[in-house]
Amino acid sequence: MKKLCTGSRICLFVASNKELAWFLVHFLFFCHIQGILISSLRPEVISRSEHGISRANISEYALKVLYRLSEAGYDAYLVGGAVRDLLLGCNPKDWDVATNATPEEIRQLFRNCRLIGRRFRLAHIYYGREIIEVATFRAAHGEAHRGHAQQLGDGRILRDNAYGSIDSDVMRRDLTCNSLFYDIKNFSIVDYVGGVADINARRICVIGDSETRYREDPVRMLRALRFTAKLSFHLTVEAAQPISHLAPMLDDIPAARLFDETLKLFQKGHALRSFEVLREYGLFSYLFLQTEDTLSVDSDHYVESFIRAGLENTDNRINSGKFVNPAFLYALLLWGSLRQAMYDEVEGDMDNIAVMNTLSQDIFQIQSEQTAIPKRFSVQAREIWALQPRFGQRQGKRPLRLLSHPRFRAAYDFLLLRNQAGENLHELCEWWTEFQKREASRMREIQANHINYRSHTRFRKPRRQTLG
Ligand code: ATP
Ligand code: MG
Repeated sequence: MKKLCTGSRICLFVASNKELAWFLVHFLFFCHIQGILISSLRPEVISRSEHGISRANISEYALKVLYRLSEAGYDAYLVGGAVRDLLLGCNPKDWDVATNATPEEIRQLFRNCRLIGRRFRLAHIYYGREIIEVATFRAAHGEAHRGHAQQLGDGRILRDNAYGSIDSDVMRRDLTCNSLFYDIKNFSIVDYVGGVADINARRICVIGDSETRYREDPVRMLRALRFTAKLSFHLTVEAAQPISHLAPMLDDIPAARLFDETLKLFQKGHALRSFEVLREYGLFSYLFLQTEDTLSVDSDHYVESFIRAGLENTDNRINSGKFVNPAFLYALLLWGSLRQAMYDEVEGDMDNIAVMNTLSQDIFQIQSEQTAIPKRFSVQAREIWALQPRFGQRQGKRPLRLLSHPRFRAAYDFLLLRNQAGENLHELCEWWTEFQKREASRMREIQANHINYRSHTRFRKPRRQTLG
């Protein structure tokens, strides 16, 4: 018989020992995966000369925070949406900083600092009305120490206070375009996940396995759609695919958090796109079930036209620097449900104020279970509705009384929208537009007469006469 070489003998020995073979296969696979992970954690560093982010476009307060952390010997990076928006040539709406300093260490460096957050501790540094949010690098899930992190059986993470390094922090973020780090030491961008390439290709990619990441925090599905709408990017197939079957997980998210997300979706100048994208991926009903139900029976497309016109208006106002009250948004999105209920209850008699009052209360009660709308907004939204029948009452002093109502302007804008969406209210809208003009010029006249009167009758101290 031919003599076997040492290598072949080892192979034969391993093959004859099943357990050893099983162990070796797994060991080699583990090494391979580790190799991939380690090599993928080698970031691309884009130096100052290769990117267009200038410190002149960064908030002076964010720079202050970054420099102070860095001078104290900590790592300090500008992260998240700010880096993404600066690369896209937009103005970031807030400034997030990541560091290896712990929240306590951050507090010691800044007198104007407050620690917040239960799910994850964060430092807020206050400069007048501007807040710079500073987060300590997070640990990867595997590294999370007992007592610092808490994960449920369905994958959701409830508490999460384990600190890590920049490598682990990057993997904990949601989307590749949100995971770029601007290093204050040398003004380079550190990119672990191909975020710059994704921004250039205008695509929304989830970091890691989309399904796992959505399970950990279902709000990431809403975030993925929000950035798709906000940036006019497209959602990759991998990021889109799990959404339809994981959507019901949004039902377990606290209503207060969903209210915050709703405002970010609809009050930031891209409301119409958000509405379209949320409906396209089937998530709109997890924020506004009543509205979705109304839209599904909206045979003449009145409700959809009304919402679209209203959201477009909202976007225009916000993009020209004006304020939009969340009450108006809710009044807008739920109006179709009120109309539907009024049809069912009183054959669509929208002048029946008592019934409208009861129904509107029910609608907001149900809505609050999905997105916890603060009372002051639901009260104001219901006022906008309650003023609608009063536009028809134009006798005597009633128009003047309506004009002085604090919600008049919002209610009037609402009336114009109803007309725009196809309700036949043209004459009424014209009348109120003219009435306001007339009243404004009457007020100006009264004011001018008043000023003239005061300047002619002002009491003047007689000059002291000097005797010569
Ligand atoms: P913008 O402020 O323009 O709305 P943003 O990307 O800065 O966008 P923030 O909500 O301010 O969004 O969050 C800051 C960063 O924190 C994000 O860019 C992302 O990296 C990370 N982040 C926020 N929420 C989550 C989440 N639910 N899961 C994972 N990472 C998140
Ligand atoms: Mg931000």
